[in-house]
Amino acid sequence: MFRSALTMANKSIFNLPLIKAKTITSGLKYSLATGNWGQANAAGTRAGVSQVLNRLTYASTLSHLRRLNSPIGREGKLAKPRQLHNSQWGMICPAETPEGQACGLVKNLALMVYITVGSAAYPILEEWGTENFEEISPSVIPQATKIFVNGMWVGVHRDPDMLVKTLRRLRRRVDVNTEVGVVRDIRLKELRIYTDYGRCSRPLFIVDNQRLLIKKKDIYPLQQRESAEEDGWHHLVAKGFIEYIDTEEEETTMISMTINDLVQARLRPDEAYSKTYTHCEIHPSLILGVCASIIPFPDHNQSPRNTYQSGMGKQAMGIYVTNYQFRMEDSVIMNQSSIDRGFFRSLFFRSYRDEEKKMGTLVKEDFGRPDRASTMGMRHGSYEKLDDDGLAPPVSMKERLFDQSEAYRVHVCETCGLIAIANLKKNSFECRGCKNKTDIVQVHIPYACKLLFQELMSMAITPRILTKGLKSAKGRK
Ligand SMILES: [Zn+2]
Repeated sequence: MFRSALTMANKSIFNLPLIKAKTITSGLKYSLATGNWGQANAAGTRAGVSQVLNRLTYASTLSHLRRLNSPIGREGKLAKPRQLHNSQWGMICPAETPEGQACGLVKNLALMVYITVGSAAYPILEEWGTENFEEISPSVIPQATKIFVNGMWVGVHRDPDMLVKTLRRLRRRVDVNTEVGVVRDIRLKELRIYTDYGRCSRPLFIVDNQRLLIKKKDIYPLQQRESAEEDGWHHLVAKGFIEYIDTEEEETTMISMTINDLVQARLRPDEAYSKTYTHCEIHPSLILGVCASIIPFPDHNQSPRNTYQSGMGKQAMGIYVTNYQFRMEDSVIMNQSSIDRGFFRSLFFRSYRDEEKKMGTLVKEDFGRPDRASTMGMRHGSYEKLDDDGLAPPVSMKERLFDQSEAYRVHVCETCGLIAIANLKKNSFECRGCKNKTDIVQVHIPYACKLLFQELMSMAITPRILTKGLKSAKGRK
């Protein structure tokens, strides 16, 4: 593993007897396989650093990549860590969680949720008239609004209204990172700005005057665009139609569930639930995670059924198209040739490895058939099925294709080598190509060979079976 990656120049370093490349290789392999990083069974190792990505089906892969784990003992019977909190609405799927021990401790992100990766804090502190502590007298602090950046009090501002509006406007133009969270707490006279990593955020339509900022004329070019690279999602964010709101900022917003709620707020403000909407959900189904959002009519189910299906969806094996089969209620009709060509057949390889170890100069291991004279601790038994290399010989090609799988009988025209039509009941044979009805022989071929012939013929390639030197094939042998 490591050796092969080395260049000739530094190869000599690793060949020093002091460094065993195998130690690094096996250590790395151990860590990747178990997820335990750090020195094995020493203090300070980190568990769960790596995992084997689930590839059973596409949805299971996506779901695995959006999984959350709470590092709390599975035995704990305290219910609170397992229950969804109100602030997690729209961030964590309410249905997708395992049953039993890890219920509620293992969670899944909702579809559009984005975890912030963090951005620099200093460009935000230095501008827009924030007053440092060196500049202000303590007497102005009670009147002004305190500014916090990532939890740190950095100064005060006398016009927080303007500051919040500016920050939001800049964020919607992507002049300030879209990840940045702006939380104004009017009652406490605080403005909390977050630029750090690890916050859950989700996109929402921006609402102004109880109307979406995005209009039909903005949707049309989206539908018409030819490639995914053309002005897509990021364009909608950069134009200020959509913005990412984190859990803290969400507390200071009023979000309508549907566009109809906005219509209500405009037409019948007195009957509407609210007339001060600031945002609108992109779609109500985005509260679900990868597995739950592919359940048909989940809102018509009893909630545990959605949880069960979210678990079972991950166990399914995926196929990339289904249009070669025909479904009638609970049966499936599919064509024979897809089965013949290997549909639904699966195979897997298991690899074994060993090394010939050398201990000192005398004791040496060799691969081979053990014999009594030179083998230590040999057991009584029969070793005759082993080859000289110590491995059981693989079954021959003939055994594999004829004896272990079915053979297939065809009738071949001796004149041209094509497969002839045989009617065994009437005992009549005919080669369509040369109208020969007498010189026809029976040949057994492997079933795989018959499939290959059919495949070739479908590509307009004619396979011929030569049973002996062809009679009339103009001298060809
Ligand atoms: Zn023929």
